[in-house]
Parts: sequence; structure tokens; C-alpha cells
Amino acid sequence: MNTTLQKLAENAAVNSAIRPWNGRGVSSWIQGIGIHSGVNSRVRFLSAPNEPIRIRTQKTEIMLVAESVIDTTLATKLGYRGARVSTVEHLLAALYVLGHWRGFVIEVDGPEIPILDGSGLGWAFALAELTPEPTPNPFNPYDTAVEIRGGYVGLESFKDGEPMQISVSVGFAHPAIGEQSWSGQQADWLKLLDARTFGFEREIERLWASGRGLGAREDNAVVYNETGPSVPTRGADEVVRHKALDLLGDLYLVGRPLQAHVVSERASHEAHVAFALELRSQS
Ligand SMILES: [Zn+2]
Repeated sequence: MNTTLQKLAENAAVNSAIRPWNGRGVSSWIQGIGIHSGVNSRVRFLSAPNEPIRIRTQKTEIMLVAESVIDTTLATKLGYRGARVSTVEHLLAALYVLGHWRGFVIEVDGPEIPILDGSGLGWAFALAELTPEPTPNPFNPYDTAVEIRGGYVGLESFKDGEPMQISVSVGFAHPAIGEQSWSGQQADWLKLLDARTFGFEREIERLWASGRGLGAREDNAVVYNETGPSVPTRGADEVVRHKALDLLGDLYLVGRPLQAHVVSERASHEAHVAFALELRSQS
């Protein structure tokens, strides 16, 4: 087990014993509540050597590409021919961080990827002992920028041969959050895995009325009330680190790693996915 991962687990008091692979090509099920649907779903991994990672659900395979996105309201939802899976971003971020692009199928039984503790940590543990297959050739995009509803995702100048980098900033008019920024190259991304989903108490009624957030609990989300967070945070920059995790999850939908420095400012899933789509039209 990677020592950074192990340390994150200790700090987060998360069960690092999620080791579903049994060496026979099929993992055991990982189950849990979906944060938006409130419905219990389960996920397992099926070995598929040399094949691109994809989701199998409701007898349908959904490719992990931006064209599969059918909704980006508060979470990234994928669908194909009537089959759909919501809140894929934290699992996809864990794939990106650990370098998994090929070699297994993600079978999903239910409408939503379980939120687990609200972060990407559980998924990283689930896959930690699996050696990644060689990654697809990275893609070097040319100038691209997307602006949607005050959020921006774009490319910063980038030297050939450098590792991929992301720089993320957020701004929330809340005394416990304010302006935060985080920047890191690939080797730093493990530090994003423990950052949890967050929300605001003042928005909960509206959220529930729209049929979302129905599975939010104290053990899977940080809810900010007027004065501060509902539970102790995992560091003062947990909010921006979570946004960076979300960004990586959505960038996974480009379909292969990037050779680029991606900058995101106050961006939502909608902007991330629009950016990923733009990049796919170049490749
Ligand atoms: Zn998220």
C-alpha cells in the first residue's frame, strides 16, 4: 500500500481494508448509499485485460468519455441507450490519480456510484493493489478555454516533457471557506483523494426539493452552516482539494491522460465537462 494513501486513511479514520480483489478476476461488491438518490447501490470490478475501462450497468456498457455525459447538475451523470449512472466523478478521479485507464470493467448495480465517505479514498483503496496497465498515449491539446456561468476552465502554457498539472481556485462567500486555491502536478494528486463532498445548510431544503442530496449524511459530506462546518474538516483547504478531485474525475472523460496544465476557476461539473468535450473534438 502506498504510504501516502495509508497516511490519508489514518487521518481520515477510513477503513483502508477495502481490498475487494480476490485474484480471480472479479472483485467483491462495494456498496453504499448514493448521495443524491439516497438509494443503495453497489459496484464491483471485473478484470478485462487490454480493454478500456468502462461502466457496465443495466445490461449496457457506458464508455467513460465526455459524450456519455447526460447531466452535470451537482454531479456528473453518464448514460447510454437508457442506462444511466450518477455521481461517477470521485471514482473516475481515483482512476486518474492511480493511473488506471485499461484492464477492467466497472459493474454498477443501482442508479448511482456509492458516495462512501464523500471522497475518492475508498475507491483508491479498492484499486490500490491492482497494477495499472500501460496508459494510453497522452494527448497534448492546443489552446482551449471554456467559460460557463462565471466558471472558467482553460489551459496554461506548458513545457513539453513536464508532468500534467492542475491549478484550481474557488471562492465562496462563507467565512469558513472564502478564496482557496490548490495547484499540483501528477505526483501530488494522491493528496486530493481524502477531500470530501461539501454543501451548504442554507441550500439543503432546495436541494431536497429538487430530488438531490437525499443521501447526504454527516459521515459522507461536510455541510457548512452559518458559522462553520458540521464536522471537523480534513485541512483548511479541503473544499478546493475536493473541487480539484471533481475536476480530475471529469477530465478522465477526455479518454486519455493530458500533457497540459489545466486551470480551473470557480468551475462546475458543467464547465469541466464542456472543456473535456472540446478537448475530445481535437483528438
Ligand atoms: Zn465531488
